[in-house]
Amino acid sequence: MHKEDPMGVQTEARRPPPEEDSIDDATRRFLDLGFIGEFSIVGPRRMRCGACREEPAAGEVKLLALERVDVATDPDDQSVVTALECPRCGARGVHVFSFGPTASMEDKSCFAALRNERGVGAA
Ligand SMILES: [Zn+2]
Repeated sequence: MHKEDPMGVQTEARRPPPEEDSIDDATRRFLDLGFIGEFSIVGPRRMRCGACREEPAAGEVKLLALERVDVATDPDDQSVVTALECPRCGARGVHVFSFGPTASMEDKSCFAALRNERGVGAA
């Protein structure tokens, strides 16, 4: 009687999901451009700047660049890596918005409300 090789069975499932690589890559590119701060979502159409702790409306936060990350293996799982600028202190940072059925309403409403200034800023 011989045993199955557990490693052989698991190999396929253990590969890192490709979407994480893509999000990391996009985040790193924005970091290199100086978007070193952090933004977080605190409610529908409201975000928090990690630098000044203010909570500006998403409509005030400047969207300077974005990179869409589509996951080929799962069309429902989509993300957008955004390069943002705080309207209060001018800090620049990165935030990843999620889309698809599992994304929160806050994610969707904040992203939709962002002040689009792509092409005006650094990126
Ligand atoms: Zn700020």
